[in-house]
Amino acid sequence: MTNNTDNMNLYLIRLGEISLKGQNRNFFEKKLKNNIKLKIHPHRSLLTREKGRFYLYVDKSCPDETVIRTLQTTFGVVGFSKAIVCNKDWDEIVNSAKALIENEPFSDGKGTFKVECRRGDKSFFMNSYQIESELGGVVLDRYPEMKVKVKNPEKELRVEVRDKAYLYTSPVPGPGGLPVGTAGKGLLLLSGGIDSPVAFWRMAKRGLKQDCLYFHAYPYTSDMALQKVKDLARIVAPYNQGTNLIVVNFTETELWIKDHSKEEEHTLMMRACMMKVANKIAKARDCKVLVTGEALGQVASQTLESMCFTNSMSEIPVLRPLVAMDKEEIISTARQIGTFETSILPYDDCCVIFSPKHPLVRPEVEQEKKSYNEMNIEELLDKCVSEAEEFEISYHV
Ligand code: ATP
Ligand code: MG
Repeated sequence: MTNNTDNMNLYLIRLGEISLKGQNRNFFEKKLKNNIKLKIHPHRSLLTREKGRFYLYVDKSCPDETVIRTLQTTFGVVGFSKAIVCNKDWDEIVNSAKALIENEPFSDGKGTFKVECRRGDKSFFMNSYQIESELGGVVLDRYPEMKVKVKNPEKELRVEVRDKAYLYTSPVPGPGGLPVGTAGKGLLLLSGGIDSPVAFWRMAKRGLKQDCLYFHAYPYTSDMALQKVKDLARIVAPYNQGTNLIVVNFTETELWIKDHSKEEEHTLMMRACMMKVANKIAKARDCKVLVTGEALGQVASQTLESMCFTNSMSEIPVLRPLVAMDKEEIISTARQIGTFETSILPYDDCCVIFSPKHPLVRPEVEQEKKSYNEMNIEELLDKCVSEAEEFEISYHV
């Protein structure tokens, strides 16, 4: 690969938290760099770092939208803007400014703005103030409704005159967070509901790479239910640099639970079995934690006592990033990340085989452990694990 940046578009990327990481900064930045390049591939890209920012060059064959969607789904990116590099020639600078303001955030032609210039090359024939006022005029010619505001404008056009002239606009927000893969690996229990895709997104935001595990109860739950889970995984996968969806058929297990435990314990026993199976799968895939979409008090199986029981069935920690969130807050994130509309599609959940009329709400851990052991279900769970299916879900946006 050459370092020639002709025929490449340039994007400036702002890094937040990770540029403050002291001795570990390189580790975080390298991960972010690889994550971005992998998602842009097969288009050619070049990434360099300077003064706490990334300069991303992408081959012009890659549509702007692809780069934008890529950056919006890559944790560690705090903000980004399209930039143009040109020669230190005034006509070229003006034309570059004209091209840039056709895009976001200027393209609506409204609000306040300023032009800010930094002139590293003091030999350039115009000073910063002259450049700012001339280019301010260019913006006003194009968008007569806009107003100049020097303090806290809504939009900015920035110009740096150094080895070349660099022009860019104020940044579009990225998702923030830490690059995925910097916090190790976990296994998310992904259902077709609203909560678990949000839990996935929140943990990915803190750098946790996740595989997904879905318990399917075919034929009690339809192929459509499985398709829905695959669709959800596809929506959130780019945030996680792709994922693997493991599907376990849980029908026999649920029927066994129904025949070997008391009705009011069915749900708890099912959750215990989920934990046992998830632990086996996590171990085999080197996942250090489980992640669920549980929130305190949301339903009977999510009371403090029920969660204590669920925890007691897992050897590895169970992370519950939504534990303190209201349903409304969870829904608002689900809308933002684009999973809500899919999550509310009306296909059955896996616990349709039984939903006890009066589930235990405040189980006693030792008593329920005893009930679990009395079911003698381990062999069946091993069978579930050995028959699990796996689907690879792409990181492409
Ligand atoms: P969600 O909206 O995520 O389905 P929920 O409010 O419906 O959550 P439960 O059905 O009690 O609550 O599930 C709690 C958590 O258990 C889910 O967030 C998910 O992590 C896990 N879970 C539930 N059902 C399944 C399933 N069929 N496959 C995998 N994980 C599941
Ligand atoms: Mg559910």
